[in-house]
Amino acid sequence: MNIIEKAKINDNSIVYLKKLCEQKLDEYYTAGVPGVVVSRVKDELVKIKAANSEDVYRIYYEFNKVAADNGLFISSRADTGNLMVTFLLGNSPFDPMQPYYYCEECGHYEDFVEIDIVKCSICGKHIEMRGYGLPEIFEFGSNDNPRIRRRFEFHFGDGLRTLLKEVLQSLYLGYEVVDVISPDKSRKVGFSVLPEGQILLRDYPELVAYDMDGNIAICGDDSDIEEKGIILIPAIENFVYNTVKKPSNHYIQLKNYVNQIKTKESIFEEKLKEGFSSDEAYDFVKSKIYEPGGFVPSKIGVLHNKWIWSLNR
Ligand SMILES: [Zn+2]
Repeated sequence: MNIIEKAKINDNSIVYLKKLCEQKLDEYYTAGVPGVVVSRVKDELVKIKAANSEDVYRIYYEFNKVAADNGLFISSRADTGNLMVTFLLGNSPFDPMQPYYYCEECGHYEDFVEIDIVKCSICGKHIEMRGYGLPEIFEFGSNDNPRIRRRFEFHFGDGLRTLLKEVLQSLYLGYEVVDVISPDKSRKVGFSVLPEGQILLRDYPELVAYDMDGNIAICGDDSDIEEKGIILIPAIENFVYNTVKKPSNHYIQLKNYVNQIKTKESIFEEKLKEGFSSDEAYDFVKSKIYEPGGFVPSKIGVLHNKWIWSLNR
């Protein structure tokens, strides 16, 4: 079988993402964007492009936008990888940068060392503490050789599925967008986009299935589907999110929770009490920092968001 080229979003997603990031950075850093953030975002966009994942991140942005515009909740849990790009383009309030101070008056940026700073050392105005110190998580590879995720898994409550499908249909104009259903055909588990000029009934009869309402859908093994050049976008309606009536309240709850979680310092003390030597306790804390679900190294920063999101599953 010939290798069929996957569908592409019609305009240039990487250029679009770059513009969006610049715009969001200006909104978040009202008195000037710190250089360290500019280079981090630039670096992430290079990695995203190198992994041919720009359309994946474009979809992430558009899905989050349509959810926010309609006051509905969507989560991709740990799939965001704690990138600055996903923070800027999504709805999460968790700035993933290492903890820092930012002055909204003069734009002064300062690394977080002490917790008690309240005034800007340059202009003397109140200074804001930001950053949750969330480690970058990539699907494959190590910290030295990261690989960007190829796709996100979206979870959402009632009312979003139709809107998400419309988003995909407008992004992939001229391509067939089809629902994907579970092997037992009992529920919808995502969307697929067929390659250019391909029609499900004619070109992929082996994947054709019908959902509970008799609508045509795709059903098959993920890797089989992808091998045929079809794009898969996992998107699952999760009843838990129906209880999230206002996304902003949900995030406030998460933030409160996050701020109560054990810090590096408290774990260190705990280990000493358990009889660890201080070297052992130090190594233990250090080993946890970059582990998914591990602790992060500050009093305000807290925990990898995989765990945070998983609390709501
Ligand atoms: Zn200042």
